[in-house]
Amino acid sequence: MSSAESAVTPATLLRPELLALRAYHVPPSSGMVKLDAMENPYPLPPELRAEIAQLTAEAAINRYPDASAATLKQAIRRVAGLPSDMDILLGNGSDEIIQLLAMAVAKPGATLLSVEPSFVMYKMISVFTGLNYVGVPLTEDFELDLPAMLAAIEQHQPALVFLAYPNNPTGNLFDAAAVEAIIRATPGLVVVDEAYYAFARDSFLPRLGEFPNLLVMRTFSKLGMAGLRLGFLAGPTPWLAELEKLRLPYNVGVLPQLVAEKLLENHDVLLAQAEQIKRDRLWLYERLVGTVDVRAWHSEANFILFRVASATQVCERIKARGVLIKNLDGGHPALTDCLRVTVGSQAENEAFIRALQDSLHQSA
Ligand code: PMP
Repeated sequence: MSSAESAVTPATLLRPELLALRAYHVPPSSGMVKLDAMENPYPLPPELRAEIAQLTAEAAINRYPDASAATLKQAIRRVAGLPSDMDILLGNGSDEIIQLLAMAVAKPGATLLSVEPSFVMYKMISVFTGLNYVGVPLTEDFELDLPAMLAAIEQHQPALVFLAYPNNPTGNLFDAAAVEAIIRATPGLVVVDEAYYAFARDSFLPRLGEFPNLLVMRTFSKLGMAGLRLGFLAGPTPWLAELEKLRLPYNVGVLPQLVAEKLLENHDVLLAQAEQIKRDRLWLYERLVGTVDVRAWHSEANFILFRVASATQVCERIKARGVLIKNLDGGHPALTDCLRVTVGSQAENEAFIRALQDSLHQSA
């Protein structure tokens, strides 16, 4: 056989489920008003930027980071008000923590269960790690369908359940009593994913310890640190000590550790930005519900889900006007003709509303 014939190819070598996956798509955004990825729109105050410049200038980037990130963990415990008997694990973004949890439970035949529509990485990471994935549909108004959830838990005996609280991309907080019933019924771990906690009225973090199988995950991405890649998982030590074995030793670099510590010292600055985003969310929501032919859903996060008559066309027209939002059409049947806009600065929100209204009125 010639070497050309025997040459290995992705199609012959790689796992078929990997070949069948579509990569998580991040569109180019240079020069656009970027309202597609739930980022905080605000820069840091100049004094804080100068302090960060100084810190990074002096940082020992020739050395590996503190593998335990002890100082940063202390800062996180403080700002999150973590119960003192709970432990914490850091991830390079919370995406990494989802993967680590999935790896930990991925015995042959094990199941990861979540709801649909929800954060797409739960399903993707199930595929990466060889877990069975079960997605239980939400009700028509995007609430938990508790009887369906309990039946699916009974049937599939999931090792891992993810509930995004608030949910992405729908933006709502599920009924806390229903979440509690799910935690009690699940034979495995339930991870309440609080990526959008900074914009929401409720949290399960203070309730850690009430349930032996509850873990709470958060990220700092939406609070103004998306570029640092930092998330954490909180829960009882016996679980976290085992999960810690799967964490790659230096997953949070020297610079993210230093900068995040500094930002958490100035947590009030970030919280004030989050409060502004919550006020602007209301402004944006009122504009959306006041627009003919638009249906918008109430949000407890820093984005709003809305439906138009022809989402792909409207999204393209908005993009042609320089504003990038997320088209969810085609991702899930419940999201037909749905778009998701991140709450930006007031100027960005106004630019979006103008672009939306022009796009809706544009004749074909
Ligand atoms: N969970 C949810 C519900 C999310 O929406 C996101 C980001 N879109 C993440 C986790 C991951 O965030 P990160 O990896 O930036 O921490």
